[in-house]
Amino acid sequence: MKAVKAWGLSEVGHSRGHNEDAFEIDSGRRLYLVADGMGGHNHGEVASRTAVRAIRDHLAALADREGCGKGELELRPCAHLEEAVRTAHEQVLWAIRRDGSLYGMGTTLVGLLLEGDTAAIAHVGDSRAYRLRGGRLELLTQDHTWVHEQVMAGFLSEEQARAHPLRNVVTRALGGEGELAVDLREERLEKGDLYLLCSDGLTTMLEDGEIAERLSRGDSPQQTCRGLVDEAKLRGGFDDVTVVLVEVE
Ligand code: CA
Repeated sequence: MKAVKAWGLSEVGHSRGHNEDAFEIDSGRRLYLVADGMGGHNHGEVASRTAVRAIRDHLAALADREGCGKGELELRPCAHLEEAVRTAHEQVLWAIRRDGSLYGMGTTLVGLLLEGDTAAIAHVGDSRAYRLRGGRLELLTQDHTWVHEQVMAGFLSEEQARAHPLRNVVTRALGGEGELAVDLREERLEKGDLYLLCSDGLTTMLEDGEIAERLSRGDSPQQTCRGLVDEAKLRGGFDDVTVVLVEVE
């Protein structure tokens, strides 16, 4: 099993008094999460924290039941991560049912779960997962946003989407109505891989080429996270910005 080193950083945006993003690094279970909450008042914060906690607790309970992460859990990381994300969705909905003032809250989620040399990635909303491998940055997730749908349909260019007033409208979220569709993919870990999970507070401020340049510098994960967050804030960073880096050693 390949060793990994992880670091995360989250900071509140210039236009806010509280941070609606949340992240989790559970090195023991090799679970990494970024969630970006939405909703009035501080409800986005409630949604993102509820989701992150629910996923962590679900996987912890599963591992305990199956004996310290051994057995079936190692063989089916995607299935287990999907189940945990669905549990998180239910928990957000349940919190809304319990307290009607939370109505309308929701959260994005991007998660990475490593089992052996397999990486499972689960994704809902517009937070993203990238991987730098052999000097090349690859986006591993497709945004669930209205503007991305327009780009795919050929109605908007990437540049128009970046500047579009509706660029923040997500088409899928935990806590949203209807059946939740979770995007899942499985990847083999390779030595030197660098996985980045981030909220849109980073990707609305930095383009992929700039992210690639920062990830390629050979800095420690800690320095890279600091650099990415500082750069997003320097450019106006009105939105909360969160990054989690996982380096395969
Ligand atoms: Ca955001």
